[in-house]
Amino acid sequence: MNLCDIRTVRDILAAFGTQTKKNFGQNFLIRREIPERIAEECCDARDSVIVEIGPGIGCLTAELARRYRRVIAFEIDKTLIPVLKFTLGEFRNVEVIEGDIMEVDLQKVLAERAAGERISVCANLPYYITTPILMRLIESGVPFDSITVMVQAEVADRLTATPVRGDYGAITVAVRYYGQPRLLFPVGRDNFLPAPKVDSAVVRIDLYADKPVKPQSEKDFFKTVKATFGQRRKTLANALSAGLSDLGKDEINRAITDCGFDPQIRGEKLSVADFAALSDRLFRGK
Ligand code: SAM
Repeated sequence: MNLCDIRTVRDILAAFGTQTKKNFGQNFLIRREIPERIAEECCDARDSVIVEIGPGIGCLTAELARRYRRVIAFEIDKTLIPVLKFTLGEFRNVEVIEGDIMEVDLQKVLAERAAGERISVCANLPYYITTPILMRLIESGVPFDSITVMVQAEVADRLTATPVRGDYGAITVAVRYYGQPRLLFPVGRDNFLPAPKVDSAVVRIDLYADKPVKPQSEKDFFKTVKATFGQRRKTLANALSAGLSDLGKDEINRAITDCGFDPQIRGEKLSVADFAALSDRLFRGK
């Protein structure tokens, strides 16, 4: 069964009395080469357990199951659970769990099912909730080797931006704090049913086993990043004065110059290490 054939997708949905749902961000892949390539490039170790978010009718799940030891897939849409039982029936190494990935206790579920195993994530993410899901995954405390996600092209640009290139923002710094992102390949909108209004791209983030940058307080580090990008068009000094008003403008200006930055600089120019140095200095003694 070719789960990416547009007629098959339509027939299966009709046979189970369901249809694609906009509110769950359902845009199903309809060209087989794409899930094949995502599955091929998402993980280096074939003995890994792959966590998938949103299997849909299972086209990417099947490609993952063919290549890796096991797949654990979380699907929010309960009408797709019987569909997946049917489409993935031939695979003994797939477990589908009905649930909202934003609610699931990932650490607990994976400790029960994959303790001591290598784990990676692979997903064609629903657009309506890409960044929250990504942050939940990287902050989950689960030692994933890598996280590969298909996202809107514009989000892919943000995830892979650098201080000198592109749409650098809070999510870029967060991702770069936890790992190394890279663009795998672009995917045009015509490859989905229904076709979304924008193109997509696949991004892989290789997570650090040992993070190279270690701020004194992770909480203060993220507070600093959030304040900086909360006021995007402002200079660093003005953005921080607005976002961290408790610290006082003079103290903020002193901290910025102590770190060797020009107060007129914009947050987009700071690296992860720069943000760590700045938050250490800003919150020193607190
Ligand atoms: N993997 C399929 C594919 O590539 O064709 C479907 C991808 S579709 C873009 C996103 C999938 O995520 C849908 O199956 C949707 O029901 C599911 N989904 C949406 N929100 C979710 C959530 N919070 N938790 C788990 N699954 C979710």
